[in-house]
Amino acid sequence: MTELLKISLPDGSVREMPQGSTPLDVAAAIGPGLAKAAIAARVDGELRDLTRPFEGDAQLALVTARDEAEALELARHDYAHVLAEAVQALWPGTQITFGPATDDGFYYDVKAPEGRDPFSMDDLPAIEEAMRAIIKADKPLRREVWSRQALIDKWSAEGEVFKAEWARELPEHEELTVYWSGNDWLDMCRGPHLPSTGKLDPQAFKLMRVAGAYWRGDQNNAQLTRIYGTGWLNKKQLDAHLHRLEEAAKRDHRKLGREMDLFHLQEEAHGSVFWHPKGYRIWRELEAYMRRKMDGAGYREIKTPQLMDVRQWTQSGHWGKYAQNMFAVPDIVPDVDEESGVAQERTGPKVADDAAWMAIKPMNCPAHVMVFKQGITSYRDLPIRLGEMGCCHRNEPHGALHGLMRVRQFTQDDAHIFCTEGQVVSEVQAFIALADEVYRDFGFTYDIKLALRPEKRFGSDADWDKAEQELRDAVAANGLACEELPGEGAFYAPKLEWHLTDAIGRTWQVGTIQSDRVLPERLDAHYIGEDGEKHRPVMLHRAIFGSYERFIGILIEHFAGRLPAWLAPVQAVVATIVSDADDYAREVEAQLKAAGIRVETDLRNEKINYKVREHSLAKVPHLLVVGKREAEEGKVAVRTLGAEHQKVMTLDEAMAMFRAEATPPDLR
Ligand SMILES: [Zn+2]
Ligand SMILES: [Zn+2]
Repeated sequence: MTELLKISLPDGSVREMPQGSTPLDVAAAIGPGLAKAAIAARVDGELRDLTRPFEGDAQLALVTARDEAEALELARHDYAHVLAEAVQALWPGTQITFGPATDDGFYYDVKAPEGRDPFSMDDLPAIEEAMRAIIKADKPLRREVWSRQALIDKWSAEGEVFKAEWARELPEHEELTVYWSGNDWLDMCRGPHLPSTGKLDPQAFKLMRVAGAYWRGDQNNAQLTRIYGTGWLNKKQLDAHLHRLEEAAKRDHRKLGREMDLFHLQEEAHGSVFWHPKGYRIWRELEAYMRRKMDGAGYREIKTPQLMDVRQWTQSGHWGKYAQNMFAVPDIVPDVDEESGVAQERTGPKVADDAAWMAIKPMNCPAHVMVFKQGITSYRDLPIRLGEMGCCHRNEPHGALHGLMRVRQFTQDDAHIFCTEGQVVSEVQAFIALADEVYRDFGFTYDIKLALRPEKRFGSDADWDKAEQELRDAVAANGLACEELPGEGAFYAPKLEWHLTDAIGRTWQVGTIQSDRVLPERLDAHYIGEDGEKHRPVMLHRAIFGSYERFIGILIEHFAGRLPAWLAPVQAVVATIVSDADDYAREVEAQLKAAGIRVETDLRNEKINYKVREHSLAKVPHLLVVGKREAEEGKVAVRTLGAEHQKVMTLDEAMAMFRAEATPPDLR
């Protein structure tokens, strides 16, 4: 008689089960309700199929739909399989490759059969229908272990060129698994999966779009079609997601940026922004606001070079870790071929002893250390807080660029605090308070997260222990809480991150503070301590907006273009109903201007409704409509953006109202 398995449950109890039992058997032994609700299992910490037998005594935690993150991940992976099965059912001869779960759904890369056009949006409804049929058929998803040769044989026999190629490269003796859907379709996959397709909600997914993709992401390989879907646990979640997408599309900062004439992007300057007068006005207001905040908090502003010798970047460690994201140029005119007169081919940035390469800064930190190192610093001078509206460049791939949100040229509200070991916690605390003031001024709520040491890092474990604990202590001292993110810190320091929540519930990571003991060491920064000896300062890297470009993008989307009056590029437009009121309109404009209001006039010979529509689209907060009567009475009819009715008031009243609104929040 073989021994029974001892299966320990989260409540501390232990169940004895026969050999060959599965997590589902345990669930059934506990109760039929749990057996029905269970969708997967954690066995000794590993997420597994419900029907995969235990290999020995084990710790078991059953996973149900209430474990939402895991349930979503499993469901999305299942949807990807169902998608591939559906496409092959509809169009035999389609080759499948790979299809993972994504943040909000799944995709699968497929190749249409020979002689058929690549799949398009027009094919999606039919595929969705076929997917629903597979889900409704409630096909069991069954794991099976195969040999590599068996896989190669199967894929080769079926003309699955890509899958066969992949299988051939797998390690010879690794245990390979496939997942059956019923008895008629399978995919190779590590799993785990839900017990059957019927666990998916046929109304909780939607195919969204198709895009071109290359086999293994290489342009030299065969072109595939990537079919994207979004997948959820129920229809309510799907609807909420689609609604969010709709809202996000309405608020898209690229669309609003056009309508409000704020900025543009063009091919000739991939990832760098052309700011128009109105967009740059927002920038200037933000910059002035941030300067006041930083001046008030004891920062001093500096300006450092765009270009520095690559040797400097090598010493700081950036060139070693980050070279592929840096723009670099040789410090000399390239050699010219005498016969052709053509400059010799550039072979890309290299650090050679005899060639001086210059790199455009991807960050401001090393230059700030250079400023710190000028002269002798005493412990009495610390902390030293150096700020810079630092313009940086990072060489991001074209595909990663996105409007203002992901750019190659950006300007940070950057600063570095040089302080003693004993000042770290109080400096971080002061920064947490400053960040809080700023985010409140814009009406954002936020969560703070603590990103802990990554796998690849500089510095000793003892330094990391200390640095992480300091950040924890500072957050706690401010009466706040933070979620910890293992492995997500920078290579030189742990960091606190501020994640803002916007008006439609999306989160954006903007602010950060990092306590760094590595860079002062690498660049040999020191101060003279009370004992007369040299000591290393700690360097705190910090930003609140992050980058101006992205922060403006976030503001546009958060406010759906209706920026608070103090940020609005044009705060009021005086629009005439009849040309008789032109003189009065000009007078109103002059008075508002004198009061510091950003005002324009619209004297065009257009219908007032046309003018209203146009200025609403440009999101001007107030439209002052003036006709003959207003001119005679010295009044204005104020139409406020989003309000249904206009309000007639005296010019003085209007002016007082505008002035109050136009005052930045920190000056009120
Ligand atoms: Zn899979
Ligand atoms: Zn820095």
